[in-house]
Amino acid sequence: MSPTNILLGQECPQLPIYVKEEDLVETEAPIREVIDEIKESGGDAVKFCYQCGKCDTVCPWNRVRTFSMRKLIREATFGLTEIEHEEIWRCTTCGKCAQRCPRDVQQIQDMIALRRMATGYGVFPAAIKPVRTASAGLAGDGNPFGAERSKRADWAKGLAVKTFTEGMEILYFPGCYLSYDARLKKVAAATVNILNQAGVDFGILGTKENCCGESIRKTGNEELFKTLARENIKNFIDHGVKKILVSSPHCYHTFKNEYPEFKVHFEVVHISQYLFELINEGRLQISKEYRQKVTYHDPCYLGRHNGIYDEPRETLKKIPGLELLELAEAREESLCCGMGGGRVWMETAKSERFSNLKLEQTIAVGAEVLVTACPYCITALEESRLVLNYENVIQVKDITEILQEVI
Ligand code: SF4
Ligand code: SF4
Repeated sequence: MSPTNILLGQECPQLPIYVKEEDLVETEAPIREVIDEIKESGGDAVKFCYQCGKCDTVCPWNRVRTFSMRKLIREATFGLTEIEHEEIWRCTTCGKCAQRCPRDVQQIQDMIALRRMATGYGVFPAAIKPVRTASAGLAGDGNPFGAERSKRADWAKGLAVKTFTEGMEILYFPGCYLSYDARLKKVAAATVNILNQAGVDFGILGTKENCCGESIRKTGNEELFKTLARENIKNFIDHGVKKILVSSPHCYHTFKNEYPEFKVHFEVVHISQYLFELINEGRLQISKEYRQKVTYHDPCYLGRHNGIYDEPRETLKKIPGLELLELAEAREESLCCGMGGGRVWMETAKSERFSNLKLEQTIAVGAEVLVTACPYCITALEESRLVLNYENVIQVKDITEILQEVI
């Protein structure tokens, strides 16, 4: 269905949408049906906005181009959202504006509500079209790459990794990027090497693992999220899973905060927390030095969304020789890498990547290694290294890759 169809009410007369095209009738009067739709989709909090603009002052988009969450909220309040426009897809759900908003407008939920509407009508601007390919892959094979489900556990070939069975200490859930992406398979390998070194009794679900569904939900595809979540939950229950170890903060957030919507509760631990635990319990011994200047990037879904700031830093501080430097914007103020909210599948102009700014911040504090704990961040930062020609200036590593070198 096209926006034209929608506006003219030919296929969906109950929901006219404001579409700014020369050949269409325009109206700037409030459209009651759209306001109701936004409300029903979870965006009712837009009405609390009093247009202070604090969101715009902290939004990372305004470092690389002009973007106004305040304006989007205003338009949504009056049912004047241009759903065919790219603006409603920009928000990376980093959470920075939400922590500043004096009226709890819930910008992230509001944007997801608008995207649900756009997804419902199949309205995707050019830069957003790759989301449709990711959706097809997720629906068919449980991953956004459209890679074969039968190859999901291939990353573990040659490593000592068992299939999870009931009674094991922990399920390791690497997630899509660590299972299929060439760069991130190295992180999966580092993780299992560490787990084996510490004597952890763990297993994986392999081909029975699906994407957690976090990012596709943020693009507004609620049905697909629910399908993925239900399949994962069924597999967790069928296999007697109690505790889940994840590498991605996005999996962490979803399992911990969103799967309980399905009336299930699993113990969830992120690898950055688990490393700290293993070291403190004496199960993992650090035996070598790491003589490098390192800085840590707080991923949005580990830090702002889940308050995990200390364990990764405390883990790094235990490594002899490692000099930990703090970025100008760290912890609650961390600058988003740009990949959340489904942006990992969307096109972002090279000059508009937040991760470029992150590398500049890294150089500014004199660090040689930028370490983080999120596959999306690593993807963005590695691309920026190439774009900025910093391959010989900065190394980008997952925290497990550093630990692997010192145990
Ligand atoms: S910070 Fe909150 S109240 Fe202020 S303009 Fe943004 S959304 Fe509205
Ligand atoms: S959540 Fe982050 S990216 Fe989205 S509007 Fe707020 S500050 Fe900008």
